[in-house]
Amino acid sequence: MRKLIYIMGCAHCGSTLLTRVLARHSRIATVGELKMSAIPDYRNYQCGCGAELLECSFWKQVAHACAEEGVELDFGNFGTHYRTNGCLAGRIVGAQVRGSGLESLRNAACTLWPPAARALARINQRNKIVIDKICEVLRKPVFLDDSKDPTRLMHLYRSGHYDIRAIYLVRDGRAIIASHKKRNPDMRANIRVWEMKIRECERLRKVLPNLQLMEVRYEDFCRDPRRGLAEILTFAGLDDQSERCLGPSGHESQHVIGHNSRLQADSPIELRTEWPALLTAQDLASFERCGRELNALYGYEPDGTATAS
Ligand SMILES: [Zn+2]
Repeated sequence: MRKLIYIMGCAHCGSTLLTRVLARHSRIATVGELKMSAIPDYRNYQCGCGAELLECSFWKQVAHACAEEGVELDFGNFGTHYRTNGCLAGRIVGAQVRGSGLESLRNAACTLWPPAARALARINQRNKIVIDKICEVLRKPVFLDDSKDPTRLMHLYRSGHYDIRAIYLVRDGRAIIASHKKRNPDMRANIRVWEMKIRECERLRKVLPNLQLMEVRYEDFCRDPRRGLAEILTFAGLDDQSERCLGPSGHESQHVIGHNSRLQADSPIELRTEWPALLTAQDLASFERCGRELNALYGYEPDGTATAS
């Protein structure tokens, strides 16, 4: 069974940085976010290697290998995302993780109702083939998926195809809403997006109590990446190559899809605390009303400190 490391978390939790360093491990293959929903215009999208996506030799090899298994890769619709839009079956498969009662209903629908069962089986099989071919082309046996989405993690786990080690990457909620604010000034909406995703990640933990999951605070990782990497690699059952992962490596999986920071491969790992300058007193008051308790779950205090890990 293939080992699969999955990074779960909110948008802007810092997963691209963690992916970048893990991608240098000699046994970890990755393309970043395999759900491939972050490509706005694939014809003008730059692969992490710097080439245009459609011109990248790695993706051409993967597409060719998948075609030999009967899977045509369409970069406009990769087919690996457990989607929520479209027909009822798609909405059942792709809806966000709920409580255990509703998840039992989803399970029953995906087992007993043929349209949902077929939709789920098709996406599971497509993911399996694409993951196998990416690992083959990169000649690395362990796959790292930085999709972050809890629903996707649940389906990958339940597919039974993988030996999964999940990393729940958390970050101070104020840093996350400050990143959202750069694109959307509506802070109520930004706080709501963060809060909903945190609650979904917490539900996932309850729905999959046997999932091997490690919680990692982004800030702790940035303060001591050597130690953080060693702990993650031990959890994943891999050789501690943390020194190699922190510098240039001939083993690097470069063809990463996702946040634009994937294109800044040589930038140093450092903790930049921008949110105090980006958030107003009103933003912080709104956050404290809605998010204080949730943020405290991970040790983040209202004064901006964090408890020791
Ligand atoms: Zn590439």
